[in-house]
Amino acid sequence: MTDTRIDLAKYMVVSIWWGCNNDCSLCMLSGLKHKLPPIGFEKYKQLIDSVVKDRSFENLILSGAEVTTFDDLGRYVRYAASFGWFKKIQIQTNGRRLSDSAYLEHLIDCGVNEFFISVHGLEDVHDAIARRPGAYKETLAGIHHLEDLGIPFITNTVLTRENYHQTVPLMTMLGQTKAMELHLWNLFPMEAKDGKNLIVRIGDFLELLPEITSTVKSLDKHLILKAFPHCLAVHPPVVLDGRVPAAVLPDRFWQEFQECGFGTCVYRNDCRAQDCWGLSRAYIQKYGQEKNMLSPIS
Ligand code: SF4
Repeated sequence: MTDTRIDLAKYMVVSIWWGCNNDCSLCMLSGLKHKLPPIGFEKYKQLIDSVVKDRSFENLILSGAEVTTFDDLGRYVRYAASFGWFKKIQIQTNGRRLSDSAYLEHLIDCGVNEFFISVHGLEDVHDAIARRPGAYKETLAGIHHLEDLGIPFITNTVLTRENYHQTVPLMTMLGQTKAMELHLWNLFPMEAKDGKNLIVRIGDFLELLPEITSTVKSLDKHLILKAFPHCLAVHPPVVLDGRVPAAVLPDRFWQEFQECGFGTCVYRNDCRAQDCWGLSRAYIQKYGQEKNMLSPIS
């Protein structure tokens, strides 16, 4: 079953900035972000102009590493908002700078009307993953400011061996916020091996799933599993969704992305799943093909 209340096919994500104020152990970009070029305002303008002209996407996501560390973010948002075309202008963020309510109100004044906020654990675990003491308190303060202002937001968590033991209480805490949806990502390292020993065995995650499902159900929230095999048995309000928005990223990113083995599955040729990411190359190297756990969808 694939179902979500947010239709990512209507979003385009543009990566505009590669600086960050966290140093997350799970970061897909890792050292790569120091080598990627920012898009630059002229190219960004051309891109936005063409999307508005073609009416190709009605929602825009501004992303990269941590866009709130980009001093020019307001200008980029204002430009996109100036057309009155985009229904949603979302930023993907670790949320720390949203603890500054004046800064948050500035972004909203510029035109941001949706936020996608990463929270990777409860306080001790989140700060250990972000490698920035105090990061969690700032992120949660940002979330509370959004709640006070009634601004829609989605939460984003990447499952790793560092937060696995906290997954149930973390989903409980996030489910108690006013988040529209909770997203939980399966880690896809952009390398052939799990060099940081972060990948969680799918079978271990499945042991948590019944409790997670009943928790989010009791809190009346959808939990969207991203980049998990689509043949796993999940039950509403937990849904599998491998779709991602159309993305504008530097060529170097896509070269590195090939390393993750996106789409690999021993049953791929026999399976009709459309948006399934299969298993990453690093997962298979670590845990094997999981022939007995996966089953092709007919
Ligand atoms: S069999 Fe493989 S491709 Fe098909 S849903 Fe399962 S993991 Fe995805």
